[in-house]
Amino acid sequence: MKLSTGAEFIHTITMPTPFPVGDVNAYLIKGDVLTLVDAGPKTEEALLSMKSQLQQAGCRLQDIEQVVLTHHHPDHVGLLDYLPHDVSVIGHPYNAAWLMRDQTFLENQHAYFSRLFVEFGVDPVFLPLLSQLHSTLEYSCHRALTSGVMEGDSLPGLKDWKILDTPGHAQSHIVLYRENDGLLIAGDLLLSKISPNPLLEPPQTGSSRPRPLLQYISSIQKLLHIPISSVLTGHGEPIPDAHTHILLSLKKQEERAKEVLELLRQKPLTAFEVCRLLFPKIYKRQFLLTMSETVGQLDFLEEHGKIKAEYSGETVMYEAVRR
Ligand SMILES: [Zn+2]
Repeated sequence: MKLSTGAEFIHTITMPTPFPVGDVNAYLIKGDVLTLVDAGPKTEEALLSMKSQLQQAGCRLQDIEQVVLTHHHPDHVGLLDYLPHDVSVIGHPYNAAWLMRDQTFLENQHAYFSRLFVEFGVDPVFLPLLSQLHSTLEYSCHRALTSGVMEGDSLPGLKDWKILDTPGHAQSHIVLYRENDGLLIAGDLLLSKISPNPLLEPPQTGSSRPRPLLQYISSIQKLLHIPISSVLTGHGEPIPDAHTHILLSLKKQEERAKEVLELLRQKPLTAFEVCRLLFPKIYKRQFLLTMSETVGQLDFLEEHGKIKAEYSGETVMYEAVRR
């Protein structure tokens, strides 16, 4: 799909992924610098698909001058391994460790989640599920981030575009906002059909656990204060009315939190027990996703004073606050 956007042309490049989410979108911006926003997973199918769509847009993989990453997930970065070595790779500084993944990084991840799972009351028989943590990383790349960008920064050769920090779905998440017409390239911040998972991640600075759902909520609330004409998403169709979409997402989220509060009104539970009640059929298969969703709701309820979290030994028990 080619979008008419004034002096620049933006081509949507849709590629298959091996993940349940289905296809992923990258965007080719023909501005003063030939820019690719996101890069698809590292699979043969995605590579072939990217090459043929670039050809239709009148260029080749080796013509791309810079890649801007919305976040570090494998379905958005994997194909970086096929781009020439002199291409600039631009993104939030937090991408760097995820793109290189040295031994220390992997060991730290494992140690962090082992501790966290004890805190969340995960039954030790499920600890081998920790290995799922890294199973998707085979579709990622090994590449250095060449330039870090954050809130308010602009991009080389794309003078109308600004970066907005939007952590939550990933700690490294940013979006690209074109101020003169309100176009937003949103990565996985807003998706037309599904709500993005606020994934648990170790902190990159400091030691306190990031609260991804709370971050996600303030990231999308921030967008309510700027005019947005259309949203180009990381998966699926563009979103024409961003503000309505955001208000609806916030409402749905509150409804999910209410369900969790009802469970805790019966009796105090660990995060793991809540997760099993919420996702009895899929929690084993999608352990990190379902735990992240659960912990997100617990963080939300705690933040709003509806529940309290108390340590019982090394494990946290969540309890509804009496009305
Ligand atoms: Zn993602």
